[in-house]
Amino acid sequence: MEFSEKVVIVTGASRYGEKPGESGIGVVIAKEFAKRGAKVVLFDLCESPSTYPLKNLPRKEDLFETVSKLRDLGYEVFGICGDVSSKDDVVKAVKKTVSKFGRLDILVNNAGICVLSPAIEMSEEIFDLSLRIMAKGTFLFSQAASKVMMNGKRGGRIINISSIIGRVPYLFCTAYAAAKSAIIGITKVMALELAPHNINVNAICPGFIETPLLSGKDGVFSQGARLLNISEKKQKRILLNQIPKGRFGEPRDVAGLCLFLASDEADFITGQAIAIDGGLPANI
Ligand code: NAP
Repeated sequence: MEFSEKVVIVTGASRYGEKPGESGIGVVIAKEFAKRGAKVVLFDLCESPSTYPLKNLPRKEDLFETVSKLRDLGYEVFGICGDVSSKDDVVKAVKKTVSKFGRLDILVNNAGICVLSPAIEMSEEIFDLSLRIMAKGTFLFSQAASKVMMNGKRGGRIINISSIIGRVPYLFCTAYAAAKSAIIGITKVMALELAPHNINVNAICPGFIETPLLSGKDGVFSQGARLLNISEKKQKRILLNQIPKGRFGEPRDVAGLCLFLASDEADFITGQAIAIDGGLPANI
């Protein structure tokens, strides 16, 4: 797959590390597009919005470190700071992308958070924040990007990173499930509306992918272990045992599907929510 003429925005693309589990899905998607000749904008938080109720988010300054590491590898990448849930940040980012590269072909809505809590104890702030970042963020970026794609008259691709938890229930995931299901709804409606403009909109529903969201500090493994009162190791083993393929996914698994959906080969695929989960039985 070749993307040499293409301009891509990937949101939530700052977390980059050398070891397994240290890189997020977004940065690996960005790198794989850049490796195949695309010009890629990485969009992520650089400061904590004042209305964020979480102390551990965001991790500051990673974005430009990541951009400079990818540039050192010879890739044409560009960093833009912002919050996906701020219309102002999103519109400015899309404008800046077009003024720098002259076009926008592919948007990957990847930014997300995952905060676990039993539904009866879940705070209103966490519920609102989850919906705001994942559902509203996906909507705002898709709206701004599709306007530019329609004006460019070259079509386009929007790929939304949902989750298997948008399709099947998992304990303690009320807010996350609500946001990820909303992303699937947004995907299907926008796919209908944008098909006449040759803009395909699809969602990817990853299973358990080893990234900082899972194995990092305050990740899903540690949050789940705390809630179930078991060790993190045991929590990890319980999840691993559910995966018929016998391994956690890697960001490059998700990146492969994302690149395919962005390619010419996927021209007739739109409005889908495709699982990539190693065969989780609950999801078949
Ligand atoms: P990750 O490494 O934590 O990546 C999420 C990224 O989103 C981070 O860089 C984070 O920034 C950024 N972000 C959060 N809020 C943002 C906002 N308001 N504006 C802009 N950027 C924001 O986790 P990941 O596992 O790669 O997750 C990527 C996507 O895949 C998420 O949507 C997640 O829900 C989804 N997913 C992951 C899995 C999995 O098992 N890992 C499974 C299914 C779906 P900071 O670094 O500054 O916090």
